[in-house]
Amino acid sequence: MSNALPWINEELEEIERRGLRRRRRMVEPLPGGRCRIDGREMWNFAGNDYLNLSQDPRVIAAAQQAAAEAGTGATASALICGRTQWHARLEEQLAEFEGTESALLFPTGFAANMGVIVAVVGREDAVFSDRLNHASLVDGCRLSKAALTIYDRKNLSALSEALSAASSVRRRLIVTDSIFSMDGDAAPLADLCELAEAHDAMLMIDEAHATGVFGAQGKGFAEFAGVEDRVHFRVGTLSKALGASGGFVSGSQSLIDWLWNRARPQIFSTALPPPVCAAAGAAVEIIRTEPQRRTELLQRCGDFRAALIAEGFATIEAAVAPIFPILLDDPQLAVRTAAALEERGFLVGAIRPPSVPPGTSRLRITLSWAHDQRVIEEFTTALRDVLRDVAPGS
Ligand code: PMP
Repeated sequence: MSNALPWINEELEEIERRGLRRRRRMVEPLPGGRCRIDGREMWNFAGNDYLNLSQDPRVIAAAQQAAAEAGTGATASALICGRTQWHARLEEQLAEFEGTESALLFPTGFAANMGVIVAVVGREDAVFSDRLNHASLVDGCRLSKAALTIYDRKNLSALSEALSAASSVRRRLIVTDSIFSMDGDAAPLADLCELAEAHDAMLMIDEAHATGVFGAQGKGFAEFAGVEDRVHFRVGTLSKALGASGGFVSGSQSLIDWLWNRARPQIFSTALPPPVCAAAGAAVEIIRTEPQRRTELLQRCGDFRAALIAEGFATIEAAVAPIFPILLDDPQLAVRTAAALEERGFLVGAIRPPSVPPGTSRLRITLSWAHDQRVIEEFTTALRDVLRDVAPGS
């Protein structure tokens, strides 16, 4: 073997020096919003299992039964022979849940986002992407080769101008997270719909952190904002509030037919494992029949956010989701603060570039329906003590 790899250790040392090196660790999930790390049990305030469905006995039983009947893997892409009755049933269920003609599964939410963008715009088109969009939307935009404009959702007049300037290209596509994964705030969906309509543009939204959490029926933020019918492409994941794994797109039959024929990640990847589809199907059913989970969760989120603001922590006041950033700027400080919280029995995310822009390292705290008022209060006290000791002034 040639000696062509020393650059890797040099680069690793460099990211270590900047406090940006990430190390692998093992987390054992436990029921009730808890986990175990290095033999120590703690509360998990870091995941995206917003409704605690990954641990629900009904969801687990559905996966177990599908594994017993279908085996563990789909064995081929959906187009070849990987689309089993569990896939077909889940797609039907998702279409019914979303109130659309059809739905299509993808191996991950990441793949769904990339796949849709590349299937609907290309070299002759223009794409407009929010500055803080998820990496899967960013990569999809780049891969599509469409002319890319990055916009700031707080300055939509600039987006309007950019759309006007692109009036002569073949197609225009606006893409946005509906709930931003690191800030927890929402996209101005009604304004984006208006701009899309005024400029004859398509609008795509990523509901990854909103499916199951927002809206009277739990469909997501477009439902909550009353704009479902004005959004062309709605992408969701099965991996957060649904507690499973995978992505999906819901829409008209012709859109789904187009994606079946053109969305490369679902053409060229093995279909989701049947037990995962069965688990997601059971989760959709719970979301449909137990709306109190999301209303209780959002109520606790409102109270927790008010407590963070009252404490004077550097959070994002406009956030609406079960996602709570505490901005600490310095990456090493974020890591030290998270480690101190772990000592007290609470796991939170320490988020550093490139997951967030430089200078905005933070704690990312998430609430789950499994966290009751008492636990949230204990956590708030721990947060106050730790921030005072480790990051005074934050
Ligand atoms: N979109 C957003 C906003 C996300 O936060 C994530 C996951 N971090 C994804 C898409 C990707 O979803 P998945 O984990 O299902 O690939």
